[in-house]
Amino acid sequence: MERNSKQPKTLQEAVVFFADPNNALAYMTELRWPDGVVTCPTCGRKDGVFLHNQRKWQCKSTHAKRQFSAKVGTIFEDSPIPLEKWLVVVWMISNCKNGVSSYEIARTIGVTQKSAWFMLHRIRLGLQTSGGKLGGGPDSEVEIDETYIGGKARNMHRSKRERLSRDGGMQGGHGKTVVIGMVEREGKIKTAVLGHKREKKTMHQIIEGNVMPGTWIHTDEFSNYDGLSNNFTHFVVNHLEHYVQGNVHTNTIENFWSLLKRGLGGTYVAVEPFHLFRYVDEQGFLFNTRKDGTRKISDSERFDIAMSQVIGKRLTLPN
Ligand SMILES: [Zn+2]
Repeated sequence: MERNSKQPKTLQEAVVFFADPNNALAYMTELRWPDGVVTCPTCGRKDGVFLHNQRKWQCKSTHAKRQFSAKVGTIFEDSPIPLEKWLVVVWMISNCKNGVSSYEIARTIGVTQKSAWFMLHRIRLGLQTSGGKLGGGPDSEVEIDETYIGGKARNMHRSKRERLSRDGGMQGGHGKTVVIGMVEREGKIKTAVLGHKREKKTMHQIIEGNVMPGTWIHTDEFSNYDGLSNNFTHFVVNHLEHYVQGNVHTNTIENFWSLLKRGLGGTYVAVEPFHLFRYVDEQGFLFNTRKDGTRKISDSERFDIAMSQVIGKRLTLPN
């Protein structure tokens, strides 16, 4: 997608830029119809008339839903909240490193906290694009690990050690939520929330659903990972004895958990699991959009990626 030099680079600029309905509409139109030809979503006609007062198009054929807006067919479609506000919220979610609360959103765009909460939830769902499976190639090994979210975040390392040494499999207690993460070294991460239990069967289903068969995978010695060698080449790290045995390690996923917990140490410790799921997803999105090869991805590009996922469109990054 061609970058418009007028486009914002910071949250402050985004708030100002998208407050102008013309800018918001132009952005959305360019994203949805990159060749500039607005197409009727019902019949595919390409010669609709733009109705300036309503900021909608009207198809020349007579059928239901003749009039359509740039929100049609997206997660924004049936919402009375204007595009201008939606775009600012996507910017906030895609670029706030420590997660964004519904209170901050309510304050920034001037909606009720209830509306802000609904917007957050909907955008989060939009960002959960499945994508392809991880791994598969000879240079793309995948590390898999689980962690506890919520409750006493600072004790996670200790509780993990405890369960490693004496675990039967039911230590997701203490009101904590278990999250499993799968990450390609130098690549993308996928996470899934397991709830309060770590059931072996569920874990295997998630791993098989997200990682290409045959991939070289690295886990710790937790017994729930036993049996994965039926579908993968499985390397096991013994955390209690050596942290790293050559190339067999789970440092990448451990680093992701650290990033996650840094945020959790602040605002998120006391909140409900539901908010935590959203936070985990947001952190996964940030992790996956941190760089393109060796080049750092800018906030503006990250916003474009988020928007393209939210409206279900694949986006190719500029070089
Ligand atoms: Zn039509």
